[in-house]
Amino acid sequence: MVKLSHHFGSKRYYPFSQFLRGRFGYRVYKLPVDAGFTCPNRDGKVGYGGCTYCYNPSFSPPTLREEVSILDQIQLGKRKKGGKFLVYFQPFTNTYADVDTLKRLYDEALQDDETVGLCIGTRPDCISDEILLLIESYAKNYHVWIEYGLQSAHDKTLRLINRCHSFSQFEDAVYRTQNRNIFICTHIILGLPGETREDMLETASILSHLPIDGIKIHHLQVIENTKMAKDFKKGKFNTLSFDEYQSLVVDVLELLPQNMVIQRLMGDVLDEKILISPRWNLKKHEVLNLIDKELIRRDTYQGAMYED
Ligand code: SF4
Repeated sequence: MVKLSHHFGSKRYYPFSQFLRGRFGYRVYKLPVDAGFTCPNRDGKVGYGGCTYCYNPSFSPPTLREEVSILDQIQLGKRKKGGKFLVYFQPFTNTYADVDTLKRLYDEALQDDETVGLCIGTRPDCISDEILLLIESYAKNYHVWIEYGLQSAHDKTLRLINRCHSFSQFEDAVYRTQNRNIFICTHIILGLPGETREDMLETASILSHLPIDGIKIHHLQVIENTKMAKDFKKGKFNTLSFDEYQSLVVDVLELLPQNMVIQRLMGDVLDEKILISPRWNLKKHEVLNLIDKELIRRDTYQGAMYED
């Protein structure tokens, strides 16, 4: 039977901060930058309008300015926190350019002496073998993550939210990325329209058997000026209550292997004014504390239900 792992530290899951401390021996954080990319699901290459929930400024810190150079953004970010960091290419699709452009941007991020690695957020249908080779070249000397947005392992949901890629494209990207010394993270959303609890747990179970090193778990948030907001206002679906999410996220953690790093346990909307639902009236640290409490109340932990 799986037991509570010592590498979780004081938590009942494997937090990213704990993983980084174990790897580096000192505190390392993610410093987000905006390199001015767009997204192939917005400009027509694979789709128009983007994912139905996507309002990108809602999940990009307000200090980011695509007209400011990457090094200047790093200087701004450093001033607030200090110490070593991974430069996080965050908004939109950060592999959506030719290899020379990507190399120039990633190289710039690595010029800062405090940069110890890169995190590159992208779509699973936007990663050629040529780009993987470029990213692999950085992984020789730096700590490198690729973050693939997925949201659900169910194609019916991916179609409904207009992701414009399939689950098999995600699997293909993951398998082409593995064995390159690149860490792989994926993003999922709990509470997507049309999904049952079983669907969401099936997504977790499927991901638990792929060569994925980390995961970001978000709760669905409906944001003003999105396609999803229109459907929500028409009453086509509901968002999760906090109690529902708390119970669900613990169920998901139970299914994930203990070596999968938890990079996130909730969505993080920075501008409350544009959030339509849910409004839990809880701060981020309160949500995380309540998830901790639920894990303790159920006397459970990440991996408790993982089947090898
Ligand atoms: S792939 Fe990402 S950036 Fe592009 S539309 Fe979807 S959520 Fe937005």
